[in-house]
Amino acid sequence: MSMLDVEAIRKDFPILSRQVYGKPLVYLDNAATSQKPRCVIQALVEYYEGYNSNIHRGVHALSMEATERYEAARQKCADFIGSPSTDGVILVRNTTEAINLVARTWARSNIGPGDEILLTEMEHHSNLVPWQQVAQEQGAVLRFIPLTPEQTLDLSDMDRLLNSRTRLVALTHVSNALGTINPVKELGRAAHRVGARILVDGAQSVPHLKVDVQDMGCDFLAFSGHKMLGPTGIGVLYVKQEVVERMEPFLRGGDMVREVWYDKATWNDLPMRFEAGTPNIADTIALGAAIDYLQSLGMEVVREHEIAITQHALDAFQELERVQVFGPGDVAQRGGIISFFCSDVHPHDLGTVLDREGIAIRAGHHCAMPLMRKLGVPATARASFYVYNTEEEVDILVDALKRALRYFARTPNGTRGG
Ligand code: PLP
Repeated sequence: MSMLDVEAIRKDFPILSRQVYGKPLVYLDNAATSQKPRCVIQALVEYYEGYNSNIHRGVHALSMEATERYEAARQKCADFIGSPSTDGVILVRNTTEAINLVARTWARSNIGPGDEILLTEMEHHSNLVPWQQVAQEQGAVLRFIPLTPEQTLDLSDMDRLLNSRTRLVALTHVSNALGTINPVKELGRAAHRVGARILVDGAQSVPHLKVDVQDMGCDFLAFSGHKMLGPTGIGVLYVKQEVVERMEPFLRGGDMVREVWYDKATWNDLPMRFEAGTPNIADTIALGAAIDYLQSLGMEVVREHEIAITQHALDAFQELERVQVFGPGDVAQRGGIISFFCSDVHPHDLGTVLDREGIAIRAGHHCAMPLMRKLGVPATARASFYVYNTEEEVDILVDALKRALRYFARTPNGTRGG
Protein backbone atom coordinates (compact mmCIF):
# COMPACT_ATOMS: atom_id res chain seq x y z
CA MET A 1 0.00 0.00 0.00
CA SER A 2 1.39 3.31 -1.08
CA MET A 3 1.30 6.38 1.11
CA LEU A 4 0.51 8.46 -1.95
CA ASP A 5 -3.08 9.16 -2.86
CA VAL A 6 -2.48 8.08 -6.44
CA GLU A 7 -6.09 8.47 -7.53
CA ALA A 8 -6.06 12.11 -6.41
CA ILE A 9 -2.66 12.65 -8.05
CA ARG A 10 -3.89 11.24 -11.34
CA LYS A 11 -6.64 13.87 -11.46
CA ASP A 12 -3.93 16.56 -11.48
CA PHE A 13 -2.54 15.26 -14.79
CA PRO A 14 -4.94 16.06 -17.67
CA ILE A 15 -3.14 13.76 -20.13
CA LEU A 16 -3.78 10.67 -18.01
CA SER A 17 -7.45 10.72 -18.88
CA ARG A 18 -6.85 10.39 -22.61
CA GLN A 19 -7.15 7.20 -24.59
CA VAL A 20 -4.74 5.65 -27.05
CA TYR A 21 -6.24 3.42 -29.77
CA GLY A 22 -9.44 3.37 -27.73
CA LYS A 23 -7.69 2.11 -24.59
CA PRO A 24 -6.90 4.06 -21.43
CA LEU A 25 -3.35 5.40 -21.56
CA VAL A 26 -0.90 3.42 -19.40
CA TYR A 27 2.12 5.69 -19.37
CA LEU A 28 5.24 3.80 -18.36
CA ASP A 29 7.92 5.84 -20.10
CA ASN A 30 8.73 8.20 -17.27
CA ALA A 31 12.47 7.74 -17.50
CA ALA A 32 12.25 9.35 -20.94
CA THR A 33 10.03 12.18 -19.79
CA SER A 34 7.33 12.64 -17.18
CA GLN A 35 3.83 14.00 -17.61
CA LYS A 36 2.93 17.47 -16.30
CA PRO A 37 0.41 18.35 -13.62
CA ARG A 38 -2.09 21.13 -14.25
CA CYS A 39 -0.22 23.53 -11.91
CA VAL A 40 2.86 23.34 -14.15
CA ILE A 41 0.85 23.95 -17.31
CA GLN A 42 -0.95 26.76 -15.49
CA ALA A 43 2.34 28.40 -14.49
CA LEU A 44 3.27 28.63 -18.18
CA VAL A 45 -0.10 30.13 -19.09
CA GLU A 46 0.06 32.61 -16.22
CA TYR A 47 3.50 33.80 -17.26
CA TYR A 48 2.56 34.36 -20.89
CA GLU A 49 -0.87 35.83 -20.11
CA GLY A 50 0.06 37.78 -17.04
CA TYR A 51 3.63 39.08 -16.86
CA ASN A 52 5.66 37.98 -19.90
CA SER A 53 8.76 40.17 -20.12
CA ASN A 54 12.52 39.94 -20.09
CA ILE A 55 14.31 39.61 -16.77
CA HIS A 56 17.22 41.23 -14.95
CA ARG A 57 17.20 44.30 -17.16
CA GLY A 58 13.78 45.91 -16.96
CA VAL A 59 12.74 48.78 -14.76
CA HIS A 60 9.06 48.16 -15.37
CA ALA A 61 6.60 46.19 -13.27
CA LEU A 62 6.31 43.18 -15.56
CA SER A 63 10.04 42.71 -15.78
CA MET A 64 10.45 42.98 -12.04
CA GLU A 65 7.68 40.46 -11.49
CA ALA A 66 9.22 38.03 -13.98
CA THR A 67 12.68 38.47 -12.46
CA GLU A 68 11.33 37.83 -8.99
CA ARG A 69 9.56 34.63 -10.05
CA TYR A 70 12.52 33.40 -12.08
CA GLU A 71 14.87 33.88 -9.13
CA ALA A 72 12.31 32.36 -6.76
CA ALA A 73 12.30 29.26 -8.99
CA ARG A 74 16.08 29.12 -8.82
CA GLN A 75 15.81 29.23 -5.03
CA LYS A 76 13.33 26.34 -5.16
CA CYS A 77 15.84 24.33 -7.20
CA ALA A 78 18.55 25.12 -4.63
CA ASP A 79 16.32 24.12 -1.70
CA PHE A 80 15.19 20.95 -3.48
CA ILE A 81 18.75 19.62 -3.68
CA GLY A 82 19.94 21.09 -0.39
CA SER A 83 22.28 23.64 -1.94
CA PRO A 84 23.25 26.23 0.69
CA SER A 85 23.46 28.98 -1.92
CA THR A 86 22.11 29.80 -5.38
CA ASP A 87 25.57 30.85 -6.62
CA GLY A 88 26.17 27.39 -8.03
CA VAL A 89 22.63 26.73 -9.25
CA ILE A 90 22.98 27.34 -12.98
CA LEU A 91 19.89 27.12 -15.17
CA VAL A 92 20.55 25.30 -18.44
CA ARG A 93 18.45 23.41 -20.99
CA ASN A 94 18.85 19.89 -19.66
CA THR A 95 21.22 17.34 -18.13
CA THR A 96 23.13 17.10 -21.39
CA GLU A 97 23.87 20.81 -21.49
CA ALA A 98 24.80 20.80 -17.80
CA ILE A 99 27.44 18.11 -18.36
CA ASN A 100 28.73 19.82 -21.49
CA LEU A 101 29.07 23.04 -19.52
CA VAL A 102 31.39 21.30 -17.06
CA ALA A 103 33.32 19.69 -19.92
CA ARG A 104 33.72 23.04 -21.74
CA THR A 105 34.68 25.10 -18.72
CA TRP A 106 35.95 23.36 -15.59
CA ALA A 107 37.51 20.46 -17.50
CA ARG A 108 39.37 22.81 -19.87
CA SER A 109 41.25 24.37 -16.97
CA ASN A 110 41.58 21.31 -14.77
CA ILE A 111 42.28 18.35 -17.04
CA GLY A 112 45.49 17.93 -18.99
CA PRO A 113 47.55 15.33 -20.84
CA GLY A 114 47.71 12.00 -19.03
CA ASP A 115 45.02 12.98 -16.52
CA GLU A 116 42.27 10.46 -16.02
CA ILE A 117 38.49 10.72 -16.03
CA LEU A 118 36.74 7.80 -14.36
CA LEU A 119 33.31 6.90 -15.74
CA THR A 120 31.25 3.71 -15.51
CA GLU A 121 30.15 1.19 -18.10
CA MET A 122 26.52 2.20 -17.62
CA GLU A 123 26.69 5.88 -18.58
CA HIS A 124 24.13 7.61 -20.77
CA HIS A 125 25.71 9.07 -23.91
CA SER A 126 25.27 12.49 -22.28
CA ASN A 127 27.82 11.55 -19.64
CA LEU A 128 30.18 9.81 -22.03
CA VAL A 129 30.47 11.66 -25.33
CA PRO A 130 31.42 15.05 -23.77
CA TRP A 131 34.28 13.31 -21.91
CA GLN A 132 35.41 11.61 -25.11
CA GLN A 133 35.86 15.10 -26.55
CA VAL A 134 37.79 16.26 -23.47
CA ALA A 135 39.99 13.18 -23.75
CA GLN A 136 40.66 13.74 -27.46
CA GLU A 137 41.32 17.47 -27.22
CA GLN A 138 43.23 17.53 -23.97
CA GLY A 139 45.03 14.21 -24.07
CA ALA A 140 43.20 12.79 -21.07
CA VAL A 141 42.44 9.10 -20.55
CA LEU A 142 38.96 7.66 -19.95
CA ARG A 143 38.63 4.77 -17.53
CA PHE A 144 35.51 2.80 -16.72
CA ILE A 145 34.22 1.11 -13.59
CA PRO A 146 32.98 -2.28 -14.86
CA LEU A 147 29.74 -4.04 -13.98
CA THR A 148 29.01 -7.08 -11.86
CA PRO A 149 26.81 -9.86 -13.29
CA GLU A 150 23.88 -8.12 -11.50
CA GLN A 151 24.67 -4.87 -13.33
CA THR A 152 25.82 -2.99 -10.27
CA LEU A 153 29.23 -1.30 -10.16
CA ASP A 154 32.12 -3.68 -9.59
CA LEU A 155 34.29 -1.74 -7.15
CA SER A 156 36.84 -4.51 -6.60
CA ASP A 157 39.52 -2.82 -8.69
CA MET A 158 39.02 0.74 -7.46
CA ASP A 159 42.55 1.10 -6.13
CA ARG A 160 43.82 0.92 -9.68
CA LEU A 161 40.95 2.76 -11.37
CA LEU A 162 40.91 5.70 -8.98
CA ASN A 163 44.43 7.02 -8.50
CA SER A 164 46.54 10.16 -8.23
CA ARG A 165 46.06 10.87 -11.97
CA THR A 166 42.25 10.86 -11.66
CA ARG A 167 40.88 14.42 -11.95
CA LEU A 168 37.19 13.61 -12.24
CA VAL A 169 34.80 10.81 -11.43
CA ALA A 170 31.60 11.24 -13.46
CA LEU A 171 28.75 8.81 -13.07
CA THR A 172 25.04 8.41 -13.07
CA HIS A 173 23.24 8.20 -9.74
CA VAL A 174 20.50 5.95 -11.13
CA SER A 175 20.99 4.15 -14.44
CA ASN A 176 18.26 4.92 -16.97
CA ALA A 177 18.97 1.65 -18.80
CA LEU A 178 19.22 -0.71 -15.81
CA GLY A 179 17.57 0.96 -12.84
CA THR A 180 20.67 0.41 -10.70
CA ILE A 181 21.31 2.97 -7.94
CA ASN A 182 25.02 3.71 -7.60
CA PRO A 183 26.86 4.45 -4.32
CA VAL A 184 27.63 8.06 -5.24
CA LYS A 185 28.32 9.20 -1.69
CA GLU A 186 31.01 6.56 -1.14
CA LEU A 187 32.49 7.23 -4.56
CA GLY A 188 32.54 10.95 -3.80
CA ARG A 189 34.55 10.32 -0.64
CA ALA A 190 36.93 8.07 -2.53
CA ALA A 191 37.32 10.65 -5.30
CA HIS A 192 38.09 13.42 -2.84
CA ARG A 193 40.70 11.24 -1.09
CA VAL A 194 42.76 11.23 -4.29
CA GLY A 195 42.08 14.91 -5.01
CA ALA A 196 39.54 14.30 -7.78
CA ARG A 197 36.16 15.98 -8.24
CA ILE A 198 32.89 14.09 -8.65
CA LEU A 199 30.08 14.84 -11.08
CA VAL A 200 26.77 13.10 -10.50
CA ASP A 201 24.29 12.69 -13.36
CA GLY A 202 21.07 13.09 -11.42
CA ALA A 203 18.69 12.87 -14.41
CA GLN A 204 17.09 9.71 -13.02
CA SER A 205 17.57 10.34 -9.30
CA VAL A 206 16.64 13.94 -8.52
CA PRO A 207 13.05 13.40 -9.77
CA HIS A 208 12.59 10.22 -7.73
CA LEU A 209 14.44 10.32 -4.43
CA LYS A 210 15.67 12.83 -1.91
CA VAL A 211 18.99 14.16 -3.19
CA ASP A 212 21.01 16.42 -0.93
CA VAL A 213 24.19 17.74 -2.49
CA GLN A 214 25.81 18.41 0.87
CA ASP A 215 25.10 14.94 2.21
CA MET A 216 26.12 13.38 -1.10
CA GLY A 217 29.25 15.51 -1.19
CA CYS A 218 29.23 15.97 -4.96
CA ASP A 219 31.03 18.79 -6.77
CA PHE A 220 28.66 18.81 -9.73
CA LEU A 221 25.07 17.59 -10.08
CA ALA A 222 23.14 17.67 -13.35
CA PHE A 223 19.40 17.12 -13.84
CA SER A 224 16.50 17.86 -16.19
CA GLY A 225 13.19 19.53 -15.40
CA HIS A 226 11.19 17.48 -17.89
CA LYS A 227 11.78 14.23 -16.01
CA MET A 228 10.45 15.71 -12.76
CA LEU A 229 7.01 16.96 -13.82
CA GLY A 230 8.44 20.18 -15.26
CA PRO A 231 8.58 21.41 -18.86
CA THR A 232 11.17 20.48 -21.47
CA GLY A 233 13.96 22.94 -22.15
CA ILE A 234 14.96 23.59 -18.56
CA GLY A 235 17.55 21.81 -16.46
CA VAL A 236 19.97 22.53 -13.66
CA LEU A 237 23.69 22.31 -13.13
CA TYR A 238 24.66 22.53 -9.47
CA VAL A 239 28.30 23.33 -8.78
CA LYS A 240 29.87 23.42 -5.32
CA GLN A 241 30.70 26.99 -4.21
CA GLU A 242 34.50 26.68 -4.09
CA VAL A 243 34.47 25.16 -7.59
CA VAL A 244 32.02 27.52 -9.28
CA GLU A 245 33.89 30.56 -8.00
CA ARG A 246 36.90 29.56 -10.05
CA MET A 247 35.12 28.45 -13.20
CA GLU A 248 35.49 30.32 -16.48
CA PRO A 249 32.26 31.32 -18.29
CA PHE A 250 30.75 28.96 -20.87
CA LEU A 251 28.71 30.96 -23.39
CA ARG A 252 29.45 34.66 -23.71
CA GLY A 253 27.20 37.62 -24.50
CA GLY A 254 24.50 39.63 -22.80
CA ASP A 255 23.57 39.20 -19.13
CA MET A 256 26.71 37.28 -18.18
CA VAL A 257 28.87 40.42 -18.14
CA ARG A 258 29.34 43.27 -15.67
CA GLU A 259 31.26 45.78 -17.81
CA VAL A 260 32.18 45.62 -21.45
CA TRP A 261 34.71 47.56 -23.51
CA TYR A 262 35.44 47.09 -27.21
CA ASP A 263 38.34 44.83 -26.41
CA LYS A 264 37.41 43.14 -23.15
CA ALA A 265 34.73 42.40 -20.57
CA THR A 266 34.31 41.51 -16.91
CA TRP A 267 31.92 38.91 -15.61
CA ASN A 268 28.64 39.24 -13.80
CA ASP A 269 27.98 37.74 -10.36
CA LEU A 270 27.30 34.07 -9.88
CA PRO A 271 25.34 32.31 -11.21
CA MET A 272 24.36 34.80 -13.97
CA ARG A 273 27.94 34.54 -15.25
CA PHE A 274 26.91 31.17 -16.69
CA GLU A 275 23.58 32.27 -18.15
CA ALA A 276 24.35 34.24 -21.30
CA GLY A 277 21.41 35.71 -23.20
CA THR A 278 17.72 35.63 -22.38
CA PRO A 279 17.14 32.46 -20.41
CA ASN A 280 14.19 30.12 -20.49
CA ILE A 281 12.06 32.25 -18.18
CA ALA A 282 8.68 30.55 -18.55
CA ASP A 283 9.96 27.01 -18.17
CA THR A 284 12.12 27.92 -15.19
CA ILE A 285 9.10 29.34 -13.39
CA ALA A 286 7.08 26.24 -14.32
CA LEU A 287 9.88 24.02 -13.02
CA GLY A 288 9.45 25.88 -9.74
CA ALA A 289 5.79 24.84 -9.79
CA ALA A 290 6.81 21.21 -10.43
CA ILE A 291 9.17 21.32 -7.46
CA ASP A 292 6.38 22.74 -5.27
CA TYR A 293 4.20 19.85 -6.38
CA LEU A 294 6.84 17.23 -5.58
CA GLN A 295 7.60 18.89 -2.24
CA SER A 296 3.91 18.79 -1.36
CA LEU A 297 3.97 15.02 -1.90
CA GLY A 298 7.29 14.64 -0.08
CA MET A 299 10.27 12.98 -1.76
CA GLU A 300 10.50 10.24 0.86
CA VAL A 301 6.92 9.26 0.05
CA VAL A 302 7.59 9.48 -3.68
CA ARG A 303 10.45 7.03 -3.20
CA GLU A 304 8.33 4.69 -1.04
CA HIS A 305 5.66 4.61 -3.70
CA GLU A 306 8.23 3.71 -6.34
CA ILE A 307 9.76 1.01 -4.18
CA ALA A 308 6.30 -0.54 -3.72
CA ILE A 309 5.45 -0.42 -7.40
CA THR A 310 8.90 -1.67 -8.47
CA GLN A 311 8.73 -4.60 -6.05
CA HIS A 312 5.29 -5.41 -7.41
CA ALA A 313 6.71 -5.32 -10.94
CA LEU A 314 9.75 -7.45 -10.05
CA ASP A 315 7.45 -10.09 -8.55
CA ALA A 316 5.06 -9.99 -11.51
CA PHE A 317 7.90 -10.23 -14.04
CA GLN A 318 8.98 -13.51 -12.47
CA GLU A 319 5.87 -15.05 -14.00
CA LEU A 320 7.18 -14.20 -17.45
CA GLU A 321 9.13 -17.07 -18.88
CA ARG A 322 12.39 -16.42 -20.71
CA VAL A 323 12.36 -12.73 -19.83
CA GLN A 324 15.59 -11.36 -18.41
CA VAL A 325 15.23 -8.38 -16.10
CA PHE A 326 18.42 -6.32 -15.77
CA GLY A 327 19.74 -4.73 -12.61
CA PRO A 328 19.92 -5.85 -8.99
CA GLY A 329 17.23 -8.07 -7.48
CA ASP A 330 17.11 -5.98 -4.31
CA VAL A 331 14.57 -3.20 -4.77
CA ALA A 332 16.49 -0.97 -2.34
CA GLN A 333 19.26 -0.85 -4.90
CA ARG A 334 17.08 0.22 -7.79
CA GLY A 335 14.98 3.10 -9.03
CA GLY A 336 11.53 2.74 -10.56
CA ILE A 337 12.83 1.23 -13.78
CA ILE A 338 12.40 -2.30 -15.17
CA SER A 339 14.62 -2.94 -18.17
CA PHE A 340 14.10 -6.34 -19.76
CA PHE A 341 14.85 -8.54 -22.72
CA CYS A 342 13.41 -11.68 -24.25
CA SER A 343 15.33 -13.34 -27.06
CA ASP A 344 12.06 -14.46 -28.72
CA VAL A 345 11.20 -10.95 -29.77
CA HIS A 346 12.96 -7.70 -30.57
CA PRO A 347 12.10 -5.04 -27.96
CA HIS A 348 10.85 -2.72 -30.72
CA ASP A 349 8.26 -5.29 -31.78
CA LEU A 350 7.22 -5.70 -28.19
CA GLY A 351 6.91 -1.94 -27.76
CA THR A 352 4.78 -1.69 -30.89
CA VAL A 353 2.40 -4.43 -29.76
CA LEU A 354 2.03 -2.86 -26.30
CA ASP A 355 1.40 0.53 -27.88
CA ARG A 356 -1.70 -0.87 -29.59
CA GLU A 357 -3.00 -1.64 -26.10
CA GLY A 358 -2.44 1.92 -24.92
CA ILE A 359 0.73 1.01 -23.01
CA ALA A 360 3.67 3.35 -23.51
CA ILE A 361 7.07 1.82 -22.77
CA ARG A 362 10.50 2.50 -24.21
CA ALA A 363 12.36 0.12 -26.47
CA GLY A 364 15.87 0.79 -27.68
CA HIS A 365 19.42 1.36 -26.54
CA HIS A 366 18.37 4.10 -24.09
CA CYS A 367 21.27 6.29 -25.20
CA ALA A 368 23.65 3.71 -23.78
CA MET A 369 24.96 1.85 -26.82
CA PRO A 370 28.21 0.67 -25.22
CA LEU A 371 26.20 -0.76 -22.34
CA MET A 372 23.92 -2.68 -24.72
CA ARG A 373 27.03 -4.23 -26.33
CA LYS A 374 28.28 -5.13 -22.87
CA LEU A 375 24.96 -6.79 -22.02
CA GLY A 376 25.02 -8.58 -25.37
CA VAL A 377 21.60 -7.37 -26.44
CA PRO A 378 20.56 -5.17 -29.38
CA ALA A 379 18.22 -3.18 -27.16
CA THR A 380 16.00 -3.59 -24.14
CA ALA A 381 12.39 -2.84 -23.38
CA ARG A 382 11.89 -0.55 -20.40
CA ALA A 383 8.98 0.28 -18.15
CA SER A 384 9.56 3.20 -15.80
CA PHE A 385 7.28 4.50 -13.07
CA TYR A 386 6.34 7.75 -11.38
CA VAL A 387 3.98 9.18 -8.80
CA TYR A 388 0.81 8.62 -10.85
CA ASN A 389 1.44 4.98 -11.74
CA THR A 390 -0.49 2.19 -10.05
CA GLU A 391 0.13 -1.48 -9.38
CA GLU A 392 -2.91 -2.11 -11.54
CA GLU A 393 -1.08 -0.54 -14.47
CA VAL A 394 1.85 -2.88 -13.84
CA ASP A 395 -0.61 -5.79 -13.99
CA ILE A 396 -2.01 -4.48 -17.28
CA LEU A 397 1.55 -4.37 -18.64
CA VAL A 398 2.40 -7.86 -17.47
CA ASP A 399 -0.84 -9.36 -18.84
CA ALA A 400 -0.19 -7.69 -22.19
CA LEU A 401 3.39 -8.99 -22.13
CA LYS A 402 2.21 -12.52 -21.45
CA ARG A 403 -0.09 -12.40 -24.45
CA ALA A 404 2.55 -10.81 -26.67
CA LEU A 405 5.27 -13.25 -25.68
CA ARG A 406 2.97 -16.24 -26.29
CA TYR A 407 2.22 -14.84 -29.72
CA PHE A 408 5.85 -14.18 -30.65
CA ALA A 409 7.03 -17.55 -29.28
CA ARG A 410 4.85 -19.23 -31.93
CA THR A 411 6.32 -17.28 -34.83
CA PRO A 412 9.68 -18.29 -36.31
CA ASN A 413 12.88 -16.34 -35.50
CA GLY A 414 11.00 -14.11 -33.13
CA THR A 415 9.65 -12.09 -36.04
CA ARG A 416 6.01 -11.34 -36.37
CA GLY A 417 4.02 -13.70 -38.55
CA GLY A 418 1.82 -12.46 -41.42
N1 PLP B 1 21.52 10.98 -18.10
C1 PLP B 1 20.60 10.05 -17.84
C2 PLP B 1 20.90 8.98 -16.84
C3 PLP B 1 19.37 10.09 -18.48
O1 PLP B 1 18.46 9.16 -18.25
C4 PLP B 1 19.12 11.13 -19.40
C5 PLP B 1 17.83 11.21 -20.12
O2 PLP B 1 17.46 10.43 -20.92
C6 PLP B 1 20.11 12.08 -19.63
C7 PLP B 1 21.30 11.97 -18.95
C8 PLP B 1 19.94 13.20 -20.60
O3 PLP B 1 18.89 14.01 -20.23
P1 PLP B 1 18.40 15.16 -21.21
O4 PLP B 1 18.02 14.47 -22.48
O5 PLP B 1 17.25 15.79 -20.52
O6 PLP B 1 19.56 16.06 -21.40
